[in-house]
Amino acid sequence: IFSAVELAPRDPILGLTEGFNADTNPNKVNLGVGVYYNDNGKLPLLEAVKAAEKTRLEAAPARGYQPIEGLGAFNTSVQNLIFGTDSPLIKEGRAVTIEALGGTGALKVGADFLKRLYPSSKVYISDPSWENHRALFESAGFTVENYPYYDAATHSVNFAAMKAYLAALEANAIIVLHACCHNPTGADLTAEQWKQVVAVIREKNLIAFIDMAYQGFADGITEDAVALNLFAASGLQFLVSSSFSKSFSLYGERVGALTLVTENKEESARVLSQVKRVIRTNYSNPPTHGGAIVAAVLSSSALRQQWEAELATMRERIRAMRISLVEKLKEKNVPQDFSFVVKQRGMFSYTGLTAQQVEQLKTEFAIYAVSTGRICLAALNTKNIDYVATATASVIGK
Ligand code: PMP
Repeated sequence: IFSAVELAPRDPILGLTEGFNADTNPNKVNLGVGVYYNDNGKLPLLEAVKAAEKTRLEAAPARGYQPIEGLGAFNTSVQNLIFGTDSPLIKEGRAVTIEALGGTGALKVGADFLKRLYPSSKVYISDPSWENHRALFESAGFTVENYPYYDAATHSVNFAAMKAYLAALEANAIIVLHACCHNPTGADLTAEQWKQVVAVIREKNLIAFIDMAYQGFADGITEDAVALNLFAASGLQFLVSSSFSKSFSLYGERVGALTLVTENKEESARVLSQVKRVIRTNYSNPPTHGGAIVAAVLSSSALRQQWEAELATMRERIRAMRISLVEKLKEKNVPQDFSFVVKQRGMFSYTGLTAQQVEQLKTEFAIYAVSTGRICLAALNTKNIDYVATATASVIGK
């Protein structure tokens, strides 16, 4: 039955990690994967998470099935986190949240649900976008196209082109937007630009699907929700996928959420009933542990404070690495001005390195990056940054 199965291409980023793991060079650095490492190059287990896990372990809860939509306390905590506890949208019962298997799972449940509702809509993702967006929406049955986004010449968003493109789209087109810390470019919209996006979405009857995978990694929890708050205040309906992989350093636990903002409470009940059908026929209900830990941290003021402090440490360390990398490249008299790296936000930067330079970094220095020139700043630390800067200057100089 499997004789006709062809070998699928390797995932470009996970494939990079396989090459990195097999490399025996003691100086090797993996700038490819989007994971936060601390200054010792280790994946952290947050203290707030550790404390919540200890309590949970001591309580030794039984592991029954969760409801299809997941843990109620988790879903409420997510709404409070993304919209703020005083949000009228929550009070009016206009937000429906389900616990999902990471941000990816949230996007997929949302995509499957939208496909049932709008079978002939197209999906538009930024050019470029997280490399799984296209495949994910295509696997849900959509045709996926790109809207203009990044301008390599200015290292920022070509907002005029983006806005003009969106304004020319057909009604019910689904627009995938990165709430903050755009992956892969690190280039975000300003609050003023978000206002204009909301206006276009409203005017053209488009459907916004906001992907929030890095809340807290740009400026802070509230600050990074600026786009969400503008959409929330607009009275529009929209979807939000949240990921807690990075912000809680809980990658493998697969913790995420899908929030659908509806017209009113009665519509919420109908929407939830249909989203539950998507989940039930897919994985039935989410696992217990990760969501319980995130809910415990978010609903305890002491743990929440501790978590926010730990998140701030991660955010500030990445910023420090951005500044340090730019300084070191300048000291080495590279011909380009890399100061844009400091302006970009979140874990990633589109460095402008060519595929050939990225290849040289790998073969000559065992430094692994994505061929597009995307690097993960969170993989830099005080021990490897000199090596990376020297290697980068060397390949640029050639
Ligand atoms: N969206 C974006 C933009 C991402 O960068 C990621 C993670 N790399 C995800 C969604 C998926 O998140 P998760 O790992 O929680 O599935």
